[in-house]
Amino acid sequence: RFSVIQTAPPDAILGLTEAFNADPNPGKMNLSVGVYKDENGQTPILKSVKAAEQKILDSEATKGYLSIDGLPEYRADVRNLVFGETLAADRVAVLQTPGGTGALRVAADFMQTQLPKARIWMPNPTWANHPAIFSAAGLPSETYRYLGDDRTSLDLDGMLGALDDNAKPGDAILLHGCCHNPTGIDPTPEDWKQIAAVIAKKNLLPLIDFAYQGFGDGIEQDAVGLRTVLEHVDEAIVCTSFSKNFGLYSERVGAVSLVAADAPQCAAALSQLKRVVRTNYSNPPRHGGAIVATILADEQLTELWKEELETMRLRITKLREQFVETMKSTGSGHDFSFLLRQKGMFSYSGLSPMQVDELKSKHGIYIVGSGRINVAGMSETKMNSFCEAVASVLS
Ligand code: PMP
Repeated sequence: RFSVIQTAPPDAILGLTEAFNADPNPGKMNLSVGVYKDENGQTPILKSVKAAEQKILDSEATKGYLSIDGLPEYRADVRNLVFGETLAADRVAVLQTPGGTGALRVAADFMQTQLPKARIWMPNPTWANHPAIFSAAGLPSETYRYLGDDRTSLDLDGMLGALDDNAKPGDAILLHGCCHNPTGIDPTPEDWKQIAAVIAKKNLLPLIDFAYQGFGDGIEQDAVGLRTVLEHVDEAIVCTSFSKNFGLYSERVGAVSLVAADAPQCAAALSQLKRVVRTNYSNPPRHGGAIVATILADEQLTELWKEELETMRLRITKLREQFVETMKSTGSGHDFSFLLRQKGMFSYSGLSPMQVDELKSKHGIYIVGSGRINVAGMSETKMNSFCEAVASVLS
């Protein structure tokens, strides 16, 4: 029976990292995988996380199961970070999930079973796992226009027109809360108002993927889009990931938050979300959620975390600036200043698949085929050689 099974294609991005690890080139750089890196190419554990883990180690009394929806204090923290003071607590159900991916899958299963007529509209392009998760859940998906013809800006009119013309009331729309992956192109606060108005007019359910809070303009600033949408509609689902902003990638820390029109509807939806969880992984892992809750329960650790998050954010901004300036000095004639308007770890560089290939084979620089670069994979000390390599494949 297993003899008939065909090998599935490898994950394109993780495959690149395998090739990177095997590359003997001492000057190699990995700008492919979506993980924050420091100047030395490392992804260290935050000091606030280490301190919280020490506290947990000293005080943890049981490894008993959590409830299906996770740690209560963690769930309150998620609500505060995502929604602030904007919503009545009894209209929001928060469930701790294994990462943002777990949150998306729970949301997708919930929609597929409870909103059987809904299709989900995804931006084109989007994170490759989005269509894969929706398809795995059996949720029909469609795409809406997002990227302008210049491939460096948002086509807002195209996006709104596509939704207005094609989305049906009851459909869902996937939005990246901030730091759009893979383009780095985010709507402005003004754009968000127009997006929110179309969502309200067409009666769409917003599903907001919020995987980079704090990596764009700041913790509160990055929630502006999501909160604008919630001023226009009374139902939404938000998928949170703390992989990036707490550096907790392998601990699988996320949450799905459902906003309902009133408390009874919220309670009914929560019961269905719990059913989805129960049949998927039963209940979430404790450790990562406990780290976040321990940090946010302690004023000093919270301050330290905010500083560490700010350091990561500012490093990315600085690398964007340095890259744009250094590219100017190579005389390649290509203007990369659009990178300064983009947010978060990623940008579409405009490099073609052939140029991406040449960077890998000749220079040991690893970028995904679409030309998406992880800006955090750049390094100040290697910026000159990196930009010379980019200039050489552009010429
Ligand atoms: N959404 C987006 C847009 C992402 O880029 C990622 C991580 N690459 C996730 C969700 C999922 O993150 P996690 O690792 O927490 O599952």
